[in-house]
Amino acid sequence: MTERTKYIVGNWKMNQNTQDVIAFFDAIDSTKLRHEAWIAPQAIHIPICLQNTDDFKIGAQNCATENSGAFTGEISPASLKDIGAEFVIIGHSERRSIFKEDDQTLNKKTKLALENDLFVIFCIGETLEEREAGKVEEVLATQLAQGLAGVSSEKIIIAYEPVWAIGTGVTASPEQAQEAHAFIRQYINENLSLDGEKTSILYGGSVKPANVEDLLSCKDIDGGLVGGAALKADSYLGLHV
Ligand code: PEP
Repeated sequence: MTERTKYIVGNWKMNQNTQDVIAFFDAIDSTKLRHEAWIAPQAIHIPICLQNTDDFKIGAQNCATENSGAFTGEISPASLKDIGAEFVIIGHSERRSIFKEDDQTLNKKTKLALENDLFVIFCIGETLEEREAGKVEEVLATQLAQGLAGVSSEKIIIAYEPVWAIGTGVTASPEQAQEAHAFIRQYINENLSLDGEKTSILYGGSVKPANVEDLLSCKDIDGGLVGGAALKADSYLGLHV
């Protein structure tokens, strides 16, 4: 069986000020980090994160579909690379729902981020309505097929984040998560130019110290993409089981 890298990735969303950022890294005891430790702060805080840690990879929560030009307010993947970011989260459900990013746009962003030698954490997941209608596999397959069309890279990490579990306090059971992850791995192997055995698949959706061990002990779950529980150092460290 392939030993895959495990990750605990904090998605700070639009939270934290500079004091919070410094306090977080000050309070991290790096001897307690058991897995790859990654944080995606607000893009404006990437340099201050980099100045305050050598133990974490720092990345962005989004990037543009172009490297440069007349795109007011956008964040260039080339500039992310230039300032020392190492990864970007693409396709988070908040980007899909609030900012109406479709699979084609996400595919373009993914390809450009990879061209800039960034790791990509590509997020997929169904809504509650879709789950209740028995459409989980159909939704995941479509998001994978369209979002990762023509993508072949060892720098892709997939995050399964059921929309109904993000920021709600409701976590998918380990069984529900494992079932989705096994489907994703098989789908990748059979339909995409990615190595399903080597690709890490993270679970996201109300992961916290109390449930992380059960989730991470599932065969196909290779870590977590974590919002709320990654904001404070002690809680973040509690995810490194
Ligand atoms: C997320 O931001 O991707 C997320 C899963 O948030 P939370 O852990 O707060 O549910």
